[in-house]
Amino acid sequence: MSLIVQKFGGSSVADADGIKRVAKRIVDTRKAGNDVVVVVSAMGDTTDELLDLATEITSDSSPSRELDMLLTAGERISMAALSMAINSLGVKAKSFTGSQAGMITDGVHGAARLVEVTPQRIHAALAEGDIAIVAGFQGMNRQTGDITTLGRGGSDTTAVALAAALNADVCEIYSDVDGVFSADPRVVPTAHKLETITSEEMLEMAANGSKILHLRCVEYARRFNLKLHVRSSFSELEGTLVIPENSKELTPNRLKEIPLEQPLISGVAHDRSQAKVTLIGVVDTPGSAAKVFGLLNEVNVNLDMIVQNVSTDRPDVTDITFTLPQDQGAKAVKRLEQAQEEVGFTELRYTEEIGKLSLVGAGMKAHSGVSFTFFEALSQAGINVQMISTSEIRISVITDLDKLDEAVRAVHTAFNLDAEGEATVYGGTGR
Ligand code: ASP
Ligand code: MG
Repeated sequence: MSLIVQKFGGSSVADADGIKRVAKRIVDTRKAGNDVVVVVSAMGDTTDELLDLATEITSDSSPSRELDMLLTAGERISMAALSMAINSLGVKAKSFTGSQAGMITDGVHGAARLVEVTPQRIHAALAEGDIAIVAGFQGMNRQTGDITTLGRGGSDTTAVALAAALNADVCEIYSDVDGVFSADPRVVPTAHKLETITSEEMLEMAANGSKILHLRCVEYARRFNLKLHVRSSFSELEGTLVIPENSKELTPNRLKEIPLEQPLISGVAHDRSQAKVTLIGVVDTPGSAAKVFGLLNEVNVNLDMIVQNVSTDRPDVTDITFTLPQDQGAKAVKRLEQAQEEVGFTELRYTEEIGKLSLVGAGMKAHSGVSFTFFEALSQAGINVQMISTSEIRISVITDLDKLDEAVRAVHTAFNLDAEGEATVYGGTGR
């Protein structure tokens, strides 16, 4: 008997019909002789709607105890509804909140991190022959006894953490597309489905805007050497295997899964959630960058790209440009403006009209010419590059926001990633 953890995203359980469809699928897995633990997200766009509600009520929608209480209600609805649907099919199921399932976190509301997973009640439910349904995205801080959330998209992390703690045989992540694609099929309809991707590449894709998997879930799966199967709840097709490439035990089966030669390019990710800050005329003395980033650190800003340009006409000053998440823009700008004299810059420019495009592929390590093809594709499409950064297996650029989709398609085509037909997007609003 295998233990299977299945996670269903919001678009898979968007309405009563969706919940019944998913229930049927879970029951089939159970009837095939498996123990099943299910992690479920809030129905459809519930989390966004609850956030909208919060903003209508108060202008302070920063993460807090109460906001977490509000948001976790979304998953509580779907877990109970799904459990009811399964029970009505004559199969026993029991739902559990994150805290009941033993998801113990630190106390950071809105972005809590797991510190311990103690799924005694899940073990007990399985021992009684029940299917356990767990609310994703939530946990509890032991010190305060308060309910926390793991950050947007956190149900994936719940699933992987449970799969690791329960020593599950498989962790299946169900969504509204057939797997991990070479680009977001909503932007590139001819994107192709990947059969496998290494967790190293998946980390880069997730960190650079691909929403198919939560970044932390990929990190977690990699650390615990857990294989993920990303697939659609709307079709029976095999999805994409996300394989930890650092696995010590390469069994013959695992060897079959890992492609002998790594593909040059796995995919193109994009991100519209970044903003750009430029500080003009920063006095060019040792310590001025440290001062800028020290201030940003004080207000917990997560920086992404950073570029410093020495101004050619005035050698005593420089421009510093960096990107950060849009939702951290206000506090970053405020802190820097407060310290304008101290830092010594003449002007601060802020824009959210940027997009980030990232080309990801483990094969880049061993091949030359990738950058040339990449920049040539952008230039032929008439796309201006504002910033560039790279890692061993990634090249990223910042473009104008309104050029981003075009840029993604141009690069995707330049690396021959287009499929014959169009990818199916089964559900979801892409919100
Ligand atoms: N419902 C939460 C969200 O929309 C968690 C999740 O879907 O994973 O972010
Ligand atoms: Mg969701």
